[in-house]
Amino acid sequence: MAEITPMMKQYLEIKEQNKDSILFFRLGDFYEMFNEDAQLASRELDLTLTTRDRGKAAEDQTPMCGIPYHSSDAYIARLIAKGYKVAICEQTEDPALAKGLVKRDIIRVITPGTVIDSACLDDRRGNFLCGIFLDGQNAGAAFCDMTTGHTHVTAFSGDDRAEHLYNELSRFSPAEAVLSAGAYDNGELVEYLRDKLSCAVERGENRFELKACEKAIRAQFGEERFASLPRNNPAASLALGALLSYLHETQKTDLSYIKDLEYYEQGRFMELDLSARRNLELTETIRAKEKRGSLLWVLDKTKTAMGARNLRAWLTRPLRDVAAIERRLGAVEALTKNTVAREELILSLSGISDMERLIGRIAYGTAGGRDFASLRNSIERITEVKAQLAAFTTGRLHELDNELDTLADVAQSIRDTLVDEPPFSVREGGFIRKGFNAEVDRLHEILSGGKGLLADIETREKEKTGIRTLKIGYNKVFGYYIEVSNSFKDLVPDTYIRKQTLVNGERYITEELKNLEQEILTAGDRDKALEFEIFTALRESVTAESVRIQRAAGLIAELDTLCSLASVAVNNNYCRPSVDDSGVIEIHDGRHPVVERVLKDALFVPNDTYMGEREDRAAIITGPNMAGKSTYMRQVALITLMAQIGSFVPAKSARIGVVDRIFTRIGASDDLAGGQSTFMVEMTEVSEILHQATPRSLLILDEIGRGTSTFDGMSIARAVLEFCADPKKLGAKTLFATHYHELTELEGILPGVKNYSISIKKRGDELIFLRKIVPGGADRSYGIEVAKLAGLPNEVVRRANVILKELEQGGAYQAKPREETEQVSLDAIGEAEVLAAIRRAQPDTMSPIEAMQLLYELKQKLS
Ligand code: ATP
Repeated sequence: MAEITPMMKQYLEIKEQNKDSILFFRLGDFYEMFNEDAQLASRELDLTLTTRDRGKAAEDQTPMCGIPYHSSDAYIARLIAKGYKVAICEQTEDPALAKGLVKRDIIRVITPGTVIDSACLDDRRGNFLCGIFLDGQNAGAAFCDMTTGHTHVTAFSGDDRAEHLYNELSRFSPAEAVLSAGAYDNGELVEYLRDKLSCAVERGENRFELKACEKAIRAQFGEERFASLPRNNPAASLALGALLSYLHETQKTDLSYIKDLEYYEQGRFMELDLSARRNLELTETIRAKEKRGSLLWVLDKTKTAMGARNLRAWLTRPLRDVAAIERRLGAVEALTKNTVAREELILSLSGISDMERLIGRIAYGTAGGRDFASLRNSIERITEVKAQLAAFTTGRLHELDNELDTLADVAQSIRDTLVDEPPFSVREGGFIRKGFNAEVDRLHEILSGGKGLLADIETREKEKTGIRTLKIGYNKVFGYYIEVSNSFKDLVPDTYIRKQTLVNGERYITEELKNLEQEILTAGDRDKALEFEIFTALRESVTAESVRIQRAAGLIAELDTLCSLASVAVNNNYCRPSVDDSGVIEIHDGRHPVVERVLKDALFVPNDTYMGEREDRAAIITGPNMAGKSTYMRQVALITLMAQIGSFVPAKSARIGVVDRIFTRIGASDDLAGGQSTFMVEMTEVSEILHQATPRSLLILDEIGRGTSTFDGMSIARAVLEFCADPKKLGAKTLFATHYHELTELEGILPGVKNYSISIKKRGDELIFLRKIVPGGADRSYGIEVAKLAGLPNEVVRRANVILKELEQGGAYQAKPREETEQVSLDAIGEAEVLAAIRRAQPDTMSPIEAMQLLYELKQKLS
């Protein structure tokens, strides 16, 4: 074994304490990585792997790779995006002054949930670190966005605590979670975090100690906020305290700007589970995972990153309190009515940058000069915003005007201190405004060649000595000198030191000139240090106002969100819904907010909806494939959800009785990777819905039971529908689309159940989709016609029609085809062709269910 150098010893000691991070070890202008870290980083970042001890035996060589420290951000961002943690180890003393080995220490550990560098983050969504506590009685979750300081915490108890916990996790979709032992040992939870939410998971059992947690919360958020946490459920404090402990340990810096704590109880927001969020495509589409095509895409016309994050937060947390919803709706309505003020507000908001994250970076200490200029520019816009808000004399907009602080003092101090366009780096000087600090001005003067100062000396010396021709000059040998022509030599004072004799005169230096020269030589360094000192003082004074700045930023975000909702309402012709606790959903001429935006060749056909607590509680929707059943059901869910975030809705009129939860069971969401079949996934989801739904929930159930044999599927579908509709069991508002037409007989048997169908017209062989929902059941599904539209080979379509006729003639669905027909028809198509057609077909991606059923049957026959 080769001997270890003192530096390597230092490295290994620090690495020992940061085993789970990639250690960036500062050496001069580089961050170096060694051993396994170097191997990993070279692989992940495509860096060249070298070795420290060339010449030694291969087994004694230390693998290493490095990156220049000034371009480290991009590398760190890539590692964080891959879920790694990066520990930054800096030199903590000046190498020039160090005796022996330079001291080094970890100044910060960057992790997916604590990253604040904008290169690593999407500025239109929050980045949350999460603390999770779970045991036999309680569950708690705390979420903190370090970039803005927003912190939320909630807790649950009882049998369904884990379900609620999952739903909150899907709401915030944290980047990283610190788990209590009980949470970490729950394999399902860890899998959910890792696989479904792509969240990095950290075991942090020793952080969940109640006394320490409570102490940390008090210190961070103060007594008042601490008192808002529930006394009867320690899970809230445990989750939050553990989160704080992780934050402090990794950040190693003052986090006092994190002050904004909100405790919320279950029941304040509409609850949505992950599959409802995904199925309704609230923030991204299911397939492409893109914002385009989602509800957020339609609603997001915000002008600031803060507004965009706020809108996203509203969308993931629809309200249940009617008064709170009405407040938002009132503001949106006022903005829709005052076009001039709205447009002016939007214009002013467009000039406001991300104040929330700016103040985060300023308080954290990573902000540069440009960030301060951005903050100042943004603050200066607040006055314009307030001028427009003055047009609103009631409601939330009026409150916003009253609450909005112009922060004039903050802008003024930045303006007084810094030049208009400061550079990003605050280490190089040149950014303090002229007139702010006399010493900086003097140093700048010196730095610009000291011309003024030299001219002053020249004038003074001329007067003092009476030498009219006295001149100050410069050369490389003597530096600055005073030149006196021969005719004035006698007047030269004793303090002048002669340095050079010329033909016409003499050159001298003086003490003062020497000093000035010294000053000119060192002015650069002194200026940089002094300017940085002034900048630090400014940073501290602005940080001291961080709570005020955060509050103003929050109000701007809210206003931006309201303006966005108002613009969308006007541009898309939405109406203000009336929201109440009636339990009734009544929509006149409702539209699907996204489908109507993407339809190119056709107009969207609006539809009515009526669902009550008693009457019309459950709707069985039948109709041909492709008719628009799914679209209709989602549209009802989306309109309800939009109303509860305070948005206008795509309809002529709407009355929305607040719902506590929306559940969806839509489409095939295979979880083959998770080891579950399509049908298993479907049944698991249905089972969760039936366990968790309440009479106040809205259920969207699309083709329950389609993934198994017809009779099994139909039986399950009927039993589920009976359970949902029956007020003695669940009695929730339910939209139930099915191709099992037999279920339509439930109307009249089960109170509150009504049949609806989506109408079509048949012209010859051609199907015309009218897209109108009408009372009554559909006669058939026209699966074969739709399959034909989808391009199924003609022979298969022809054969399907033959079989269908046989079945229909046989009366009951299960009638067996007569033998000779089977032989004839199979011969006619040809065995090879059937096989080829079946191989080409992809039943899972084909929606027409009868066609699928048919194909399965054909296949069965072949076997
Ligand atoms: P399946 O039973 O095969 O799943 P479906 O009845 O659920 O079909 P949808 O998927 O809802 O049918 O609708 C199919 C397409 O019809 C949509 O993608 C949309 O383009 C169009 N569509 C649906 N509803 C309307 C409407 N009201 N106005 C205009 N076009 C519509």
